[in-house]
Amino acid sequence: MINRILNIASDVSLSKTTGKFMSDKAYGFDTVFFISKFILHNSINNSFDKSNLRQKAIDYIEDIFQLTKGTAGAVNYFLETINWLEFSNVLVKTGRNTYLVKERDVLEYLAETSENSYIFNYLVAYQCFKNDGLLPSFDKYCSEKDLSKKEEIVKDIYKVFCKLSPSIGTPDTQWSKQLVKYPFLVLGFINNQRKVTRELRVKEEFLTIEDVALNIEGTRSPIYLPKKNDYLKTFNVNYVRYYLKGYLFVSYSKIQTSEIIIVDSFGTNLAELKLAMLDDSKNGVSMSELDKEQYIKNVVKTRNQSIQHQFRKGLLDNNEHVCPICGFCFEEFLIASHIKPYSKCDDTYDAINHYNGLLLCPNHDKLFEDAKHMTIDAKTGEIILSPSAQNSVDFGGLKGKFVARPYIDNERRHYLKWHNERFIALK
Ligand SMILES: [Zn+2]
Repeated sequence: MINRILNIASDVSLSKTTGKFMSDKAYGFDTVFFISKFILHNSINNSFDKSNLRQKAIDYIEDIFQLTKGTAGAVNYFLETINWLEFSNVLVKTGRNTYLVKERDVLEYLAETSENSYIFNYLVAYQCFKNDGLLPSFDKYCSEKDLSKKEEIVKDIYKVFCKLSPSIGTPDTQWSKQLVKYPFLVLGFINNQRKVTRELRVKEEFLTIEDVALNIEGTRSPIYLPKKNDYLKTFNVNYVRYYLKGYLFVSYSKIQTSEIIIVDSFGTNLAELKLAMLDDSKNGVSMSELDKEQYIKNVVKTRNQSIQHQFRKGLLDNNEHVCPICGFCFEEFLIASHIKPYSKCDDTYDAINHYNGLLLCPNHDKLFEDAKHMTIDAKTGEIILSPSAQNSVDFGGLKGKFVARPYIDNERRHYLKWHNERFIALK
């Protein structure tokens, strides 16, 4: 596939006018991954009309990226990814709003894992730099240790961009500099390089996975809590290094085959569930009311099972198999208990996110359910009981106890806070 990508991107250059160059952070590998899945799922005979898919894309993006409904610009993640895929020759424009999936196997590769999408972005940027004679400069940039000398190389490359790229428009605007910053992020991340800012300054810090992802601030959590998307956390750097060897500017010690196996399926499950939901709402319309009701019931049942399955798996994969309240550990009986109940979840992300859960024994699951009788203080992990639970022989002893520390982490706190508020409101 590496050679396939280099081959289809063989004519990619800054001077190319169709599709824009990596002009915006929405070309983050995660966006490309999720939008590729969306395009594959919604194209008929390898074609699609972007205006027909507009609303559906917005719904999908708002959920996947946890945006507040109606966030301005959500649709741009869709439109800009289309531009990027057109620029890279994966899609071909066939009409004002219509596109042909020209390289279906490549699109399938992108939709397979988010790592593949990063590999793709890297190779397209690489090929573009190669065609425009910029690879030697980038190589020099990687080996240069002095930050101010690195900065000079970035600025020299910027001059070439200004000369070649019609997307630059007026030089020296924030926008034009952004065009240069982005390939520096994509190429620099896996080559262990420093950050380049919009002002084309080179910072001390090294690039992280968040820098090449969309990773906009979540709207769900307070600003001081970093958003933890599972597909970012489990990004397999060794997989990427392994497949990009031969196209990297720094060398890494030999990577074991066991290190290149991708185990995470969170992003895939999230996207597939969301796509199925969007299909249901569309298909339901033409049915009779009775059929529709039955149909929705069946779909909801299947989807609930699927969500519950993914959710439980996430909890089992990431936690000790033991009730954090009492130490009960007969695994078959442990219940994947939502903190914010599934029925009250805003989106698919909440529903399958294992941070929105605890593995509890049947009794404590019941006690915790919907915050009726027990909650766990989001700040301290202290167990707080309703008056009736406190007075009961069975549960009274839990008063003032704390749950195991590893459970009280940042993302789970966000959900526990919801649970605490609900507990108070129900009093
Ligand atoms: Zn228990």
